[in-house]
Amino acid sequence: MLPSLFRKRKQAFFSLIRSVVTPIAELCYTSVMLFFKKKPKAQISIFNTQSREKEVFTPIRDGKVKMYSCGPTVYDYLTIGNLRAYVFSDIVRRTFEYAGYDVRQVVNITDFGHLVSDGDTGEDKMTLALKREGKELTMDNMFAVASVYTQAFENDLKEMNIKTPHVMPRASQHVGGQIAYVEVLLDKGFAYKTSDGIYFDTEHFSHYGALGGSDSTEHSRLNENSEKKHSRDFALWKFNEDLGWDAPWGKGFPGWHIECTAMSTHYLGKTFDIHTGGIDHIAIHHNNEIAQAEAANNKPLAHYWLHNEFITIDAKRIGKSVGNAITLKQLADKGISPLAYRYWLLTGHYRQGMNFTWDAVNAAQTALQRAWRILSDIRNKGSIVDTYKEKFERALYDDFNTAEAVAVLWELLRDESVSDSDKKATAIFMDQVLGVGLGSAPSRIEKLKVSVVAEAEVPESIQALIQERETARSNKKFEEADKIREEIEKHGFQLEDGADGPVVKRL
Ligand code: AMP
Ligand code: ZN
Repeated sequence: MLPSLFRKRKQAFFSLIRSVVTPIAELCYTSVMLFFKKKPKAQISIFNTQSREKEVFTPIRDGKVKMYSCGPTVYDYLTIGNLRAYVFSDIVRRTFEYAGYDVRQVVNITDFGHLVSDGDTGEDKMTLALKREGKELTMDNMFAVASVYTQAFENDLKEMNIKTPHVMPRASQHVGGQIAYVEVLLDKGFAYKTSDGIYFDTEHFSHYGALGGSDSTEHSRLNENSEKKHSRDFALWKFNEDLGWDAPWGKGFPGWHIECTAMSTHYLGKTFDIHTGGIDHIAIHHNNEIAQAEAANNKPLAHYWLHNEFITIDAKRIGKSVGNAITLKQLADKGISPLAYRYWLLTGHYRQGMNFTWDAVNAAQTALQRAWRILSDIRNKGSIVDTYKEKFERALYDDFNTAEAVAVLWELLRDESVSDSDKKATAIFMDQVLGVGLGSAPSRIEKLKVSVVAEAEVPESIQALIQERETARSNKKFEEADKIREEIEKHGFQLEDGADGPVVKRL
């Protein structure tokens, strides 16, 4: 009797507790969910080539960013100019991730030629690559060359600490999707057939050239196909009896532009948030991507179009065709690390051209190594300094102003009112976006220590400076000697004073 009474009371007690606690718990849960769902993400302004204005970014789906960047044609090693495009898209991705967005990034690989250049004429890059390597023009040889340079591209991405895109589709794996688009465009009357291929009818698409630049561009003057209705019309398919893929209208190759439309919409949907590329793609390639996709789908292709400016040498764009191509390997041969090049790129705004000089990248490398040294000497754990965090975010959220963000990093490192441990915690926090190895500074410094340079490899100009410094030191002019040491560091060399005179190391 007694135990059963006790059990009943116990049950009543727990049911009372449940009836009070459960609604409170549910209320808390709902408010937490609402808070996170409704929590406004950071306000990020981006310059949209389409509107030619800075706009506040609004995602298509709350909390998500879908972005596509035109990938390389893998016919050779990438130039350090090309790599700016991928460092830039990496910064865009990292900034959105930092701000709490869930980002999906696609970068395609153009792994076969189109037997024509951008403007449908001239020599195709893949054909040139096969000639260069003394190989016959076959599909297998094209894919073999593409596979070598795709691997090299992936290595470059790793070395530059560029996050691996979520998808890196090969154009050759999406020919079916490209054919499907051409069929729709033919059906809808946006495309027509000539004796050498299928062309997009630009006059039929009312807002052709939405990104600008298409009026001033020479479209296909050289070897122009006289059957084209308008000079701006571009190839969706080129016939080829021997090579390529079978399509309902004849064997051949898809045009270059249709591959991006097919792959971007396949992975990201008919409309996605952001499309990036270098400024050379605005006038033809991106206008054509828009025309194809929007004519077929009746929807805008991307809401924001972002374009990086060129890296130049002596005011000429770096490019294979210009004959001034420099690769990451060539930088490494001269002692410049890929991260130092990344750091140099970040010292400029992506919408400004940057002129590459060896002095400039050497100075960037010296600065980055100075930052690594400062951070590797700090052992204690600290906290993030809010004022610097806010300044850093303000810079990035203002159209990805990495130049300003790097300046904020240096302001922090030089600020004597901030403790060393807080400096370190804040700098490592900033490296989520900068990605220049601030979080792994000690191991980077360790690697540097082994690079003692043989005397014969030290350039004469540096040897002269070393001599000058020795003279200053023996005359006890230490300030002057320090200045000369700094000058030497700017050129990428470091001096350590040993018993038998200075030892030269590469920074
Ligand atoms: P491509 O393989 O020619 O399509 O080039 C790959 C990417 O690099 C594209 O987004 C180009 O716009 C970009 N690009 C090419 N040359 C340069 C340069 N000198 N500076 C910056 N970006 C470039
Ligand atoms: Zn593209």
